[in-house]
Amino acid sequence: MRVSEIFYSLQGEGFLAGVPSVFVRLAGCPLRCRWCDTKYAWDEVAGTRYSVEKIVQTVQQNRSRFVVVTGGEPMISPDLPQLVQKLKASGKHITIETAGIAFIPELGCDLMSISPKLSNSTPDEPELAAVHEDSRLDIAVLRELIDNCEYQLKFVVDSQADLPEIQQTLKEIGNVDSAKVMLMPQAATRNELLAKSPMVAQICEQTGLAFSQRLQILLYDGQRAK
Ligand code: SF4
Repeated sequence: MRVSEIFYSLQGEGFLAGVPSVFVRLAGCPLRCRWCDTKYAWDEVAGTRYSVEKIVQTVQQNRSRFVVVTGGEPMISPDLPQLVQKLKASGKHITIETAGIAFIPELGCDLMSISPKLSNSTPDEPELAAVHEDSRLDIAVLRELIDNCEYQLKFVVDSQADLPEIQQTLKEIGNVDSAKVMLMPQAATRNELLAKSPMVAQICEQTGLAFSQRLQILLYDGQRAK
């Protein structure tokens, strides 16, 4: 597998925010979101080649029971099922962080943390924008993920204007437990996070959806957490 980095930190987002976890960041993502904070993990060949066994061994060097497999986009990695199986066998709780663009049956993770990409993520470059728009949202895949996995849905909110698109996306997916939906501010730095948090908090109060912290930005201010 192509690994961008393996490190120990606090889970920054979602219902498990604050839980110490080992992060396995796989390389490769086709989406190229405008505000992506892990652009260094876009290119698959930028990662170092690891066997599944070596990843598990590296994860086990840390006592944490919680493992977050992230990216890039981990759900496009052909060896992901084998990695999840081996991590589960070693007693780990596994969260997969995904944009929700691919479904793998019977994956066996503990939490599918899905962050569907809204139009606010579309890159400015026309060529990248075309690829992005083509693959950023697949409602059928999102339905399969939420119907078959323990999940949370996290939307990145750039402005108040994103709310109708979020509501439309939830309506199209259907059958979403609103208690599992979270909104989080679009931000690359601590200052941006603090500036946008009141706006997102207001939307959360208005809709009854939960606010997701982004501890990695609050703590490391846009620097890599390692
Ligand atoms: S899906 Fe995630 S990793 Fe891929 S470009 Fe968008 S934010 Fe970055």
